[in-house]
Amino acid sequence: MIPQMVDVETDVVVVGYGAAGGAAAISASDNGANVVILEKSKVPTSNSRCSAGNQMYPKDASFKEQYKKYLHAVSKGTVDKDTVDVFVEGLLKNPEWFKKLGGDLQVFRFPPATISLYIPSVTYSHIPEAKGLQLELYNLKQTETCPEHTGGDRVWNLLNRNLKKRSNVKIMLGTPAKELVKNDKGEIVGVIAESQGKSIFIKAKKGVIMTCGGFEFNEDMKREYLTPNPIFSFGNPDNTGDGIKMCQKIGADMWHMTKQATYLAPKVPDYEAAFVINLLAPGFVYVDKRGRRWADETHIECHEFWLPLSDFECEDFEYPRVPTYLIFDEEVKKIGPISYATMGYNVIANKYIWSSDNQAEIKKGWIVQAKNIPELAKKLSLDEKTLVATISRYNELCKANKDTDFGRPREFLKALEPPFYAISLWPCLFNTQGGARRDKDARVLDPDGKPIPRLYAAGEFGSIWGFLYQTSTNFSETIIFGRIAGENAAQLSPVES
Ligand SMILES: Cc1cc2nc3c(=O)[nH]c(=O)nc-3n(C[C@H](O)[C@H](O)[C@H](O)COP(=O)(O)OP(=O)(O)OC[C@H]3O[C@@H](n4cnc5c(N)ncnc54)[C@H](O)[C@@H]3O)c2cc1C
Repeated sequence: MIPQMVDVETDVVVVGYGAAGGAAAISASDNGANVVILEKSKVPTSNSRCSAGNQMYPKDASFKEQYKKYLHAVSKGTVDKDTVDVFVEGLLKNPEWFKKLGGDLQVFRFPPATISLYIPSVTYSHIPEAKGLQLELYNLKQTETCPEHTGGDRVWNLLNRNLKKRSNVKIMLGTPAKELVKNDKGEIVGVIAESQGKSIFIKAKKGVIMTCGGFEFNEDMKREYLTPNPIFSFGNPDNTGDGIKMCQKIGADMWHMTKQATYLAPKVPDYEAAFVINLLAPGFVYVDKRGRRWADETHIECHEFWLPLSDFECEDFEYPRVPTYLIFDEEVKKIGPISYATMGYNVIANKYIWSSDNQAEIKKGWIVQAKNIPELAKKLSLDEKTLVATISRYNELCKANKDTDFGRPREFLKALEPPFYAISLWPCLFNTQGGARRDKDARVLDPDGKPIPRLYAAGEFGSIWGFLYQTSTNFSETIIFGRIAGENAAQLSPVES
């Protein structure tokens, strides 16, 4: 039912103020629409702000068609080819778009010392479609006009500064959207939101754009759609999948609900979000709950950890790798913080600075320390015999300079000597990919594949990536489909009242 009383009237309502919401609002405003952005958090600390903000591009335009073919292949039919093609075409427009807003892209390279955070530029370089493909990682340059310390924060603040200059954009913080409002013709004509404890109706004469992110902090949804369990997140605690229920209620189809980008990382009870791990020297191994090594620790693509972590042992009825224990040596401890300083909610919102020698985290009891392996096993409640055998075996492999168990490369084989350190690691989401199904024009679809009139979506809320995530494409899709959604909604004629 349409509420009789209209509290705010506008052309386009944008639900959620991350990068997708910001891009959608700018584009709708540029196309002449009045825009209201509804943001649940009082201080926006979206996943976009917490993110590294890295974006993958074809190295030059000559790789454009091959990149499309590669993405068709790795998507395995979970998204239509047209949408992927629109993504790649849109990608090539991003640099110019950022420039107009006052931001410049630059090539970004992770420091070579990063051993745990494995991100090849072409993830599945062995498939035929990848042969010869060259991609390059970019993020926004830190300049006087984009001064923020971290990549995602720079982009979000650039969008924010541009939006604040626009008289046709109103930003309502601390105002969560609760329901979508549909008229008799099935068109979406507004949103019911909560403002200062009261329910308000924001009428949208042209359309509503859903950019309210994923469900990284909704325990029920994670249990229902994702494996393994539990699973934590590096991002924004207000991402609780609200848009999923709102869209289900008005008959939208859902897609990619079981897909995710998940790494392995420390999660301590004192903080809601997890810390991104970053190991700078090779003296470390991962062991499971039984004290067994389970992989070449240096070559698991950092977004795809959910796959090996989802290994479930029916006999013991548990995920044996959840948690996994990181065991490391003095060199790893001393060389630098084991947590990445330039991304994550704990860095952006909580301003947590991990100590440079990890000593503060030892003092807090997050990292345990032991003189020998039996003592470490006791502290971690692991089977002593198994852990002793695992570390001895690993040290033998290092001595032989060949990991015949898991194929860890020679340059990363370093025997572990006392003292030993350990911390438990959990599956941790960069983000979920699920949400409302949409088409290449960013229109939300019903289960018959028909667009729901005047409803659009972009970004992590129903990401286009539905099989294995292609590194650093989530951030760029927020901008590409945010821009498309904003433009398309703004160009509609106003709803007949
Ligand atoms: C640590 C980290 C590093 C990452 N690094 C990269 C990277 O380098 N490259 C890459 O491609 N991707 C990366 N990602 C993923 C990427 O950042 C996200 O996929 C992307 O930023 C999502 O943007 P978004 O605008 O769709 O959603 P978000 O940025 O999450 O914004 C959603 C907003 O909606 C708000 N919201 C939620 N519910 C409601 C409601 N009911 N009403 C109103 N507002 C609501 C939320 O509070 C939030 O502000 C990273 C993620 C993390 C956490």
